[in-house]
Amino acid sequence: SAESIDTIVVIGGGISGLSSAFYLRKKAKEQGKELRIELIEAQSKLGGKINTLHKKGFVIEKGPDSFLSRKLPIIELAHELGIEHELVPTNTKAAKTYIMKNGKLHEMPKGLVLGIPTSILPFLASDLVSGQGKLAALADLLKGSEAREQDESLGGFLARRIGDEIVTSIAEPLLAGIYAGDLYKLSLQATFPQFAEYERKHGSIILGSRHNRAIMAEKNKGKQPATFMTFRQGLTSMVESLQSALTDITVRTETKVEALEKHNGHYELSLSGGEKLNAQAVIITTPAFAAHQLLQPYIESTMLAEIDYVSVANVVLAFDKTSFDAEFDGSGFLVPRSEGLHITACTWTSNKWLHSAPDDKVLLRCYVGHSEDQETVKLDDEAIVAAVRNDLKQVIGLQATPLFTEITRLNHSMPQYPVGHVQAVRNLRTEMSEKLPGVFITGAAFDGVGLPDCIRQGKEAAEIMLDYLET
Ligand code: FAD
Repeated sequence: SAESIDTIVVIGGGISGLSSAFYLRKKAKEQGKELRIELIEAQSKLGGKINTLHKKGFVIEKGPDSFLSRKLPIIELAHELGIEHELVPTNTKAAKTYIMKNGKLHEMPKGLVLGIPTSILPFLASDLVSGQGKLAALADLLKGSEAREQDESLGGFLARRIGDEIVTSIAEPLLAGIYAGDLYKLSLQATFPQFAEYERKHGSIILGSRHNRAIMAEKNKGKQPATFMTFRQGLTSMVESLQSALTDITVRTETKVEALEKHNGHYELSLSGGEKLNAQAVIITTPAFAAHQLLQPYIESTMLAEIDYVSVANVVLAFDKTSFDAEFDGSGFLVPRSEGLHITACTWTSNKWLHSAPDDKVLLRCYVGHSEDQETVKLDDEAIVAAVRNDLKQVIGLQATPLFTEITRLNHSMPQYPVGHVQAVRNLRTEMSEKLPGVFITGAAFDGVGLPDCIRQGKEAAEIMLDYLET
C-alpha cells in the first residue's frame, strides 16, 4: 500500500543534494525497492553554487567553472546522464600560469604540484622564490619524517616542510582558489591528507609528490590528460540533466526547510509556507550553518556553526578582441595577499576555455575576497569593477573598456575546514545516528568541496541511506 512506501527527503538542491537524490533513486531501482523521494530547495533554481549564464554568445560561470578531471565521480555521473559528449578539456595551448611577485608576473615553474616543487631544476631556475626560500624548500628532502599523530594546520605543516616563503608566495595563492582561506587555520587532514601520508611514507613531501606523479603518469600511459574539464554549455547543463533524470521525484524550489522534528518512527519537516512533510529518513546537504539550525534542538552541533564560511565575489569582464590592449599568453595569474591587490586570481577564460567566448571576443574572470579581506566583496558594483580594472591595469596594463561586466557575490560560500575537522565530523555523525537515526548529513561542508567530491558524497549518502532502510 502507499503507506508502506518510505519517504526520503533530501534537503538542498545543490550538486550534493541532486547527486544524493539521483543515486538514491538509481540504487533503489536496482534493488527493486520503491521509495518516495522529495527534494527541497530554498532558492528558485536548483544547482546551489553552480550558476551558468549564457549571454551574447559567452558561456559565463558565476560560481564554480570546472573540475579536476582525475577525480572520477563527476565523469561517471556525466556518463550515467548521457552527457559525456559535452565534456571539454582546457585549451592545452594556454597552459602557462603566472604568479605575481613584487608587482610583476612570473611564470609558475614546471612540476609544481599543489605548490610542491616536484621538478627540482625548473624550481631552482625560477625567480619566484629567493635563494633562501629554495634552500628552505629543498630541506624537505633531508628532514625525514616528523609526522604527527594529531591533525595540524595545512599552513603550519607546509611551512615546517618546505618553508614559509613558498607558503606565502605559491601555496596560499594557489590554494586560495579552493578555500579562499587562511592556510594556518585549515585542517591538513581534511584538505590534503595525502601530504601527511607522503611525510609518513617517504619522509618528504617532495619525494611523495614525485612518487605520486610517477604513478599518475604510468596510469595515463604517457598521455597528458587535461587537468581541468567542464561542460561545453556550462556546469548548469549537468544540473539540468540531473533535473530531467529526476522526473519521478517531487522537487520543490523556493521552499525552505525551517525545522526538523523527531516523532515516533518518523520525522516532520516544517516548510516555509506552513506545510508539514513527514519522512522516514532525511539527507541534509545544506551549508553547515543552515544544518546547525535544523539539528541543534537534538544534537550538540556547535561544530557546524563553527565552520567558517568565507565570502568571495567574481567579476567577469568581456571585451572586443580589437580593442583589447594587453598581451597575455597563459590561462591566468594568481596574486598572493602580500601583493596588496584586490584581485586574488584572474582567469583568462577565453584562452583557457575556447568554448566560453565568440572568436572575436575576450573573456576574463577575476576573483576578489579572502579570509583576510571580507570588505571588497561588500563594495557596490561600480566600486568593485573599478577596483578590479585598476588591478588589471597595474598587472597587465589593460585599459580597454569592457563590453559588459557581470558581478557575482557569493556570500558565506567557502567552508573552511578547521583543524580537527575529520574527527569532529565523525563525532557528529555518531551522535546523529544515535539521536536522530535516519537523518544523514553530507555535502561540501564535510569531505571535500570540489564538485567531484560533492558527487561522491551524495553517492555515499544514498548508499548509507539504503542500508539504513534495510535494517
Ligand atoms: P550548495 O551548492 O551550497 O547547495 C546547498 C543548497 O542548499 C543551496 O542551493 C541552498 O539554497 C540550499 N539550502 C540551504 N538551506 C536550506 C534549507 N533550510 N532548506 C532548503 N534548502 C536549503 N568546485 C569545483 O570543483 N570547481 C570549481 O571551479 C569551483 N569553484 C568554486 C567557486 C566558488 C566561488 C565557490 C563558492 C565554490 C567553488 N567550488 C568549486 C566548490 C563547489 O562549487 C561547491 O563546493 C559545491 O557546489 C557545493 O555543493 P553543495 O550541494 O554541497 O552545496
